[in-house]
Amino acid sequence: MTIRIDEKKIFEAIEHKKPRSVALNAPEALIPKLQDVADHIAEMFGIQVYIIGDTCWGSCDLNTHAADMLAADILFNIGHTISMDTFGQKVMMIDAFDDVSFDVVAKKCARDLVGKYKTISLVTDSQHLHKIDSVKKIFEDHGYNIIIGRGRGQLRDAQVFGCEFYPAYNIQKQVDAYIFLGQSMFHSASVALSTEKPTFMLDPYFEEYSEVNEFAQGMQKKAVLSIYKALDAKRMGIVIGLKEGQFAHVRALELKKEFEKLDKKVQMIALTEITEERIQNFKGIDAFVQVACPRIGTDNHFKKPMLSVPQALSLIKLLKKEPIDDFLKIQHWL
Ligand code: SF4
Repeated sequence: MTIRIDEKKIFEAIEHKKPRSVALNAPEALIPKLQDVADHIAEMFGIQVYIIGDTCWGSCDLNTHAADMLAADILFNIGHTISMDTFGQKVMMIDAFDDVSFDVVAKKCARDLVGKYKTISLVTDSQHLHKIDSVKKIFEDHGYNIIIGRGRGQLRDAQVFGCEFYPAYNIQKQVDAYIFLGQSMFHSASVALSTEKPTFMLDPYFEEYSEVNEFAQGMQKKAVLSIYKALDAKRMGIVIGLKEGQFAHVRALELKKEFEKLDKKVQMIALTEITEERIQNFKGIDAFVQVACPRIGTDNHFKKPMLSVPQALSLIKLLKKEPIDDFLKIQHWL
């Protein structure tokens, strides 16, 4: 993996704003790279640089509180390319693109799917956004019609998050299949679930592609099972995530009211990291709802049901004896 961090933008910002200290934050896999960036900043500018080692899942997990405590004048959030350059006064978004080539795997996939699908859409995560044009050309050369979904909110054209898929969702009636660029079941399976269209993941490292719909169905089954397991819960815990971009206090209180109307006892919990280890500390609770990141319950193991907002809304419908429809076939799982 060759990740290229846009250090130039960092240096220009430091030259322009002349901070006394800065903080760096990125996904875990990039921490060794952050250490290099920190060394370069210290050598060039002689200012204090802090690396925030806490998790940083996305633009929903910015850690500005940590930067404030450290009195850092700028917080560089690295590796989450979105449609915005800055957040508030302090946070600056810095691109980190992966230089790996999709040429081999895209040609292989384009050759194999000829005749099966005519119109396809390309989607990806932030690291591979700059590869969309070259992969588009490969598929077009093989005779496909390519539609690139328009961005919305923080999402750029063709970009998806693990819980937000506007560029894919909004064009589903026009496309036969989706191709996700990158080695991420996390993102590609969610595209498959929100659109219910054939979805293929192009893995540029192994130079293989695979259809992810079966995996996505497994994820959906697990999500449905958790809802049914929570049906008989007498006491529920509603967990408010304390990460700033995931903070949904009002939503949590709305759900509490709904569950109480349905005779559930509800305890309100606040947590920064919602993990099985932390959850195990709470006794006498039969099922949990967390209003932070919709993927916490689907992508991690919890002994008790840990429902996301769409799952909790489905549970409420079931308790009211209403049918639950395709609760994951929506454009934003919140
Ligand atoms: S899936 Fe979770 S971590 Fe990813 S953008 Fe959504 S809330 Fe943030």
